[in-house]
Amino acid sequence: MTTSPAIETSGLAIHFKTASGLVRAVDGIDLTVARGAFHGIVGESGCGKTTLARAIVGLQTATAGSVRILGRDRTTWQRDDRKEFARTVQFIFQDPLGSMSRRQTVGQTLEEPLQIHRLGSATERRKKVSELLDLVAIPSTVLDRLPRSLSGGQRQRVSIARALALNPQILVCDEPLSALDVSVRAQIVNLFARLQAQLGLTIVIVAHDLAIVREVCSAVTVMYLGKTAEEGVSKPLFADPAHPYTQALLSAVPSPDPRIEASRSRILLEGDPPSPLNPPTGCRFSTRCPVAVVQCRTAEPALRLVPHTGQAACHLADSGTHPVL
Ligand code: SF4
Repeated sequence: MTTSPAIETSGLAIHFKTASGLVRAVDGIDLTVARGAFHGIVGESGCGKTTLARAIVGLQTATAGSVRILGRDRTTWQRDDRKEFARTVQFIFQDPLGSMSRRQTVGQTLEEPLQIHRLGSATERRKKVSELLDLVAIPSTVLDRLPRSLSGGQRQRVSIARALALNPQILVCDEPLSALDVSVRAQIVNLFARLQAQLGLTIVIVAHDLAIVREVCSAVTVMYLGKTAEEGVSKPLFADPAHPYTQALLSAVPSPDPRIEASRSRILLEGDPPSPLNPPTGCRFSTRCPVAVVQCRTAEPALRLVPHTGQAACHLADSGTHPVL
């Protein structure tokens, strides 16, 4: 018997009507996140990664396509049993403070989901809150404090603890590290990695910092202008990216290996990403791609299999060969 993936999107599109025209924020994404995976979604600002994450959990309405969570259609699941869906999938916001009530103490913040879902007696809920604090390594002395009095790292730990209150199977995290100091980021990354291993969670993390994704994620999706540029298993993909855009993104990431770092040369892309209001015809990366050929301007590349890695949407990536910038 095959087990359905944790998350599966098919032809997912999210378009916005604006005064200037139709913004194709997400434009046909087929994403598969295996159960128990730590899956990173990366790309420059405006590539649609946050919109995609929000659509997965139902915070954004899809224009077309579908989202399946653990094999069930997300839309009907949320409509039929919103509480059960919330006990299965939780979302972690970029700004923890903005996602919490400023008047509630940490203790109240953590107990609230248990009360809403009518889980446990008052004593059992207090015990659960204490366990949650232990899980995210925060001392119980913060229980009566307001979130705004906490450090950025502590706030994000509280928001993670709250997301775990209902024992979800899946966490979808929208840039949970971007508001933190560099020194604190590593601690929160390590926390996610520990929780994933300890609780067997499936974690999707949206990030623009490839170094973090390379460090902890088992799988990665690279997005460019609303589409998947490349996807696959992190280690081989980061070791030998097939898509020129992934190569350029990775070239900007310092290597922890001093020998590799000494020989690292940065690939500088010309220009900014085009507007999703008016994406280029053919390959969306063709206006910035240093190795574009005539075909790239006319025909949109489909995702092609890249041996041992995954898939890349590039005309020049073909059974064992791919462009190298
Ligand atoms: Fe570059 Fe063409 Fe490949 Fe697009 S399809 S990434 S333009 S080589």
